[in-house]
Amino acid sequence: MHSEDNCIFCKIVKSEIPSHKVYEDDEVVAFLDISQVTNGHTLVIPKHHARNIYELPEHVAADVFQTVPKIANAIQRETGAIGMNVLSNAEEIAGQTVYHFHIHLIPRFGHDDGFGAKWETHMDEYSQETLKQLASQIKQHV
Ligand code: AMP
Ligand code: ZN
Repeated sequence: MHSEDNCIFCKIVKSEIPSHKVYEDDEVVAFLDISQVTNGHTLVIPKHHARNIYELPEHVAADVFQTVPKIANAIQRETGAIGMNVLSNAEEIAGQTVYHFHIHLIPRFGHDDGFGAKWETHMDEYSQETLKQLASQIKQHV
C-alpha cells in the first residue's frame, strides 16, 4: 500500500472527503484548515503527494509556492487581517500531524488571536566566525 492511499489530503484533492476549497488549479489546492487557528486559516497543498518539504520535487515546490501570494492576499482582503504567518511543519518535532506537504496561511489579528509561536534569540552565542563556518558547511550540502 502506498502512503497516498491513506492520505487525508489526497482524499481532499480527489474530493473523496469534504473540504472548503478557496483555490484550485491543475497542480494545487487551497482549502480552509478545519481547526481555524485564526479566522481564515488556510492550507495550500500540491495535488502531488509528498511527505513534507524534504521530499518536495522542485517543480512541485514551484507550483505550490507561486500560488501563495495570491491566496494570502485574498485571505487578507476578506478578513482584514493585520498580518500573516506562513509556515510549514516537517516531522513530528516541528508539529507535523498530516504527512502530505502543506503550507499554513494563518492571518493575524492581534497578540491574543489564537496563534502563538515561541522564538528565542541565541545571537549572543554565535560569533561571526561561527556563523561563517556554519554557513559554509551547510552550503556544501546544497
Ligand atoms: P500540521 O499539524 O502542520 O501537519 O497541520 C495539519 C493541519 O491539517 C491541522 O491544522 C489540521 O487542523 C488540518 N486538518 C486535518 N484534517 C483536516 C481536514 N479534513 N480538513 C481541513 N483541515 C484538516
Ligand atoms: Zn497525500
